[in-house]
Amino acid sequence: MAFCIHNTLTRAVEELHPAEAGHVRMYTCGPTVYNFAHIGNFRAYLFEDLLRRHLKFRGFRVTQVMNLTDVDDKTIRSSREQGLPLKEFTKKYIEAFFADLKTLRVEPAEQYPAATDHVPEMITLIQTLLDKGVAYKSDDGSIYFSIAKFPAYGKLAHLDLSGLRSGARVAQDEYEKESAADFALWKAWDEQDGDVAWDAPWGRGRPGWHIECSAMGMKYLGPSFDLHTGGVDNIFPHHEDEIAQSEAATGQPFVKYWMHCAHLVVDGKKMSKSLGNFFTLRDLLGKGYSGREIRYELLATHYRQSLNFTFESLDAARAALSRLDEFGDRLRLIAGGAPAGASLPAWAQQALDAFTAALDDDLNISAALAALFDMITAGNRAMNEQALAAAGAAAVLGLLQRFDGVLGVLQPEQQQADGEAQALLGQRQAARQAKNWPESDRIRDELKQRGWVIQDTPQGPKLKKL
Ligand code: AMP
Ligand code: ZN
Repeated sequence: MAFCIHNTLTRAVEELHPAEAGHVRMYTCGPTVYNFAHIGNFRAYLFEDLLRRHLKFRGFRVTQVMNLTDVDDKTIRSSREQGLPLKEFTKKYIEAFFADLKTLRVEPAEQYPAATDHVPEMITLIQTLLDKGVAYKSDDGSIYFSIAKFPAYGKLAHLDLSGLRSGARVAQDEYEKESAADFALWKAWDEQDGDVAWDAPWGRGRPGWHIECSAMGMKYLGPSFDLHTGGVDNIFPHHEDEIAQSEAATGQPFVKYWMHCAHLVVDGKKMSKSLGNFFTLRDLLGKGYSGREIRYELLATHYRQSLNFTFESLDAARAALSRLDEFGDRLRLIAGGAPAGASLPAWAQQALDAFTAALDDDLNISAALAALFDMITAGNRAMNEQALAAAGAAAVLGLLQRFDGVLGVLQPEQQQADGEAQALLGQRQAARQAKNWPESDRIRDELKQRGWVIQDTPQGPKLKKL
């Protein structure tokens, strides 16, 4: 079966066929670095990470570009409020962003171009649009894209342009569909820009937000590439405008497949800086949740469904992960270092097939996780019945790791109980059952020396790293 994805452009689920067989070129709208990213933003980056990892699981090579928007209305306004030069202001948030990606185990993209490093490319692109007559200069020296000159305008957002006022202009980077109008490619310098300005053949100023992604996307991925992603709020105007600028300049289709994730919501409202209803990753880490628990919570809902953020679901993520960890620990105890080459037990093979089919179906993560947890149930049953030998356990462990190549949620290796520690835990249980308390205490102390504490839980004793 092929990998199928929902394409916003056609509103249909389609088989993914990259232009170059086996190699997917994708562009991901990255953060606007004027603040710490909130977990709504990270929902988008985690959906894109799942996409990237599943592509690799299916054998594709992936070239992913994620931009950093380090010049736009918001970054300029905030840097001026803080009295800092733009670069100095954004540096702090760029560093925080990369640290957060690491905490959330997001695989790095191949390129992270920053907008301020690509202004010459943007100027060239704008010049092409001027030369072709689809862009024009307004009285204040700004350059606008004339949407009337691009008949396909509105094809991504499915806009009805019949009521459009010809020649109306919008200067801000963000606006609603109702305000569809000629949009700014270049904003002539004014006092509010302070020292943020570049020289272009038509005058001093700075790029608009949309032109940044067209210029950087085409520079690194070519005039026509496979896949472009973002949150649904990016569809209009940002991605609509990217299509218009790029296709008007090159005469080629800009992107074949567009994928957008639904929002993370709180009490039914989009989590956003402007509504003030947001948590940053740091807020949640401060409440004692780990990066992988937050990752699991943000991944576990299908990307096209809105995800209602609650602390109960974070607790549920914690419980799901501890089940997963325990399963891994049990397998390691039985496998005891056996090679992973044996064939999979039927229930594990079934899980592999179901997991793959689920993600091939437009990243159906709920069904993929169901396949994983069905495997855990079947595997635990087999282990309870002593029906899983070392070689089989090693093969299942190998499969668990393959699944984790996609999910990225398993406990770090240094926290995994090794076979010897698990064996000692078993001996302590036997000693306790024989009421041999001195021996039980001795084993507890030995485990402690090796860095493990025993926790008694309703499911029996477990090891926890000190
Ligand atoms: P920004 O930094 O605002 O440009 O947003 C970065 C990414 O986060 C974009 O892909 C947005 O679509 C996405 N995004 C923003 N808010 C949310 C949210 N509440 N839920 C999901 N994605 C979001
Ligand atoms: Zn973008």
